[in-house]
Amino acid sequence: MPDYKITVGNVEITSLSDGAGENLMESAFPNVSPDDWKRYPDYISPEGKFPVNFGSFIIRSRGETILVDTGVGPDFPGRLLDELKTNGVDPNDITVVAITHLHFDHVAWNITMENEKPRLTFPQAKYWIPRGDWEHYRQPEVLADSPHIKTTVLPLEELGALRLVDGEDSITSEVTTVPTPGHTPGHMSLAISSQGQRGFILGDVANFPFQVQQPDWKMSFDLDPDMASRTREAVLERLEREGGTVGGGHFTPPSFGRVLRSEGRRYWQVL
Ligand SMILES: [Zn+2]
Repeated sequence: MPDYKITVGNVEITSLSDGAGENLMESAFPNVSPDDWKRYPDYISPEGKFPVNFGSFIIRSRGETILVDTGVGPDFPGRLLDELKTNGVDPNDITVVAITHLHFDHVAWNITMENEKPRLTFPQAKYWIPRGDWEHYRQPEVLADSPHIKTTVLPLEELGALRLVDGEDSITSEVTTVPTPGHTPGHMSLAISSQGQRGFILGDVANFPFQVQQPDWKMSFDLDPDMASRTREAVLERLEREGGTVGGGHFTPPSFGRVLRSEGRRYWQVL
């Protein structure tokens, strides 16, 4: 049975899913020719369709309960709150919500509307948001095109729950934010280090396993595709060297694996 709960030293990481959908190569990777993507039939159907998970993680470290990303939300309808319950986690248990970036499919459970007023879905938590994304999405012309920011992100400040993140910042002595820009300007990942073991939560540095083999494939959801490719290559190089456990929220559940190399080629091995 696949493992939805793993440990990295003293840190426990649980994979949760808010739901799933599918996407098309021609819209997500319009510059990649069918001749190229047809080499990955394990991941991509002959019609060019591939699955997209909307994943979150719970990280338990040194008394903190950290929720990484809050999914596609109640309108999808997402099932994150049910997944938390199944895993014995009450919304009040969450002490930190770490948002890798401000795309709608990573923030949608941040806020719950109650009597037409926003309230925190995770009332005890500080919400860690990368400053680069906070500043990018609050620009008037960007905000006008991103209605989800108004409903799921801006209220965090009024509700006193906002914690902006600059660069590398320690959530606990075992869990650190890592700037990984490109997908969005402030995108961040999480590095875990405990008892000599390593872990890494990608965010959207790579969204699909075939990107581990093809970090240069330009994805239309990357706001700066060239920077995203450089970041992806650098992170994959690090993960291959460190050999730790990797979580990718858009990867098919349980979304854990390792970046390995065989016969001169990097690949993703499901855990
Ligand atoms: Zn995403």
